[in-house]
Amino acid sequence: MMKEKNLRHLKRYSRQMLFSGIGPEGQERLSMSRVTLIGCGGLGSVIATSLVRAGVGKIKIVDRDFVEEENLLHQILYDEEDARKHLPKATAARRKLLRMNSSASLEAVVTDVHYGNIEEIVAGSHVVMDGTDNFETRYLMNDACVKGNIPWIYGAVAGSRGMCTTIVPGVTPCLRCIFPQIPPPEHLHTCDTSGVLLSIVQTVGSLQVSECFKLLTGRQTPSGELIYCDVWEGTCVGTKLQRQEDCASCQKEEYPALKAREGASVTALCGRNTVMITYYEPKGIHLETLAKKLEPAGRTEVSPDMIMFHVDTYHLVIFPDGRVIVKGTEDPNVARALYSKYIGN
Ligand SMILES: [Zn+2]
Repeated sequence: MMKEKNLRHLKRYSRQMLFSGIGPEGQERLSMSRVTLIGCGGLGSVIATSLVRAGVGKIKIVDRDFVEEENLLHQILYDEEDARKHLPKATAARRKLLRMNSSASLEAVVTDVHYGNIEEIVAGSHVVMDGTDNFETRYLMNDACVKGNIPWIYGAVAGSRGMCTTIVPGVTPCLRCIFPQIPPPEHLHTCDTSGVLLSIVQTVGSLQVSECFKLLTGRQTPSGELIYCDVWEGTCVGTKLQRQEDCASCQKEEYPALKAREGASVTALCGRNTVMITYYEPKGIHLETLAKKLEPAGRTEVSPDMIMFHVDTYHLVIFPDGRVIVKGTEDPNVARALYSKYIGN
């Protein structure tokens, strides 16, 4: 039985094992590896697909969002049915990935990443992959990974441009060395303001995956360079990065992103006419009970993962941990008001 399994394994991954950078020993290491992917949108789709097809042993997929039609352009894991059903991305991704490789061990975690849960989420990972689209979450990943001595791979895309770098605590500069502060909004290009080409998503996601394989197989030490690509210009260049002597994360070990905060974060999602409300301490909402309460006030659809509640011109998506996505406004105060009116505190 065991022999049969090994033969199947050899056949399935033979082309990858023929590549001298991986080899049979590298393949074995991939199969024993645990990778956590935070964010499963555009980059996350490319990363998850590649890791699962390549035979990485265990993959945890963490995402807070659900599939919408506008995602289908560049988030290659999802299809029209996922968007119609508003499936959580982590759940839809797991389902699809198991069809690609039924022997993969995949964990889908539908949650918002915050200071209270990030250390637990990354614990035990050999590598953490960045599939997010915002600096707040990347600082959390950076501080938790530097503190926990876990390598992680940063990636970002907008328009036709993107970049990535591998961060190995104690070896390379960390994200806070590269960007000591969140760049001001006018300098932050996002997919919602600059658009995005699928080809840059695939390019940067693939570079991140190659970096991940190098770390997992232990074949090559990371260069400590920021790789910057523009698929429209057809250019790809590496810039050597420097450590900052006064870095609050990798030098002073203060890890500012992990410091406790209270209450909720209320964030307008740029260009999407949407506000997200997240409680730092998860609330534990019983969806069926809340749905009954909401029914007289507006149209309510309940599933095991969430409630979709439509009232006036607003759409509220309510998750069991108390997180709410309010569509139809960019004003945090309007979103807060809707929250306290219909869900309460
Ligand atoms: Zn640093």
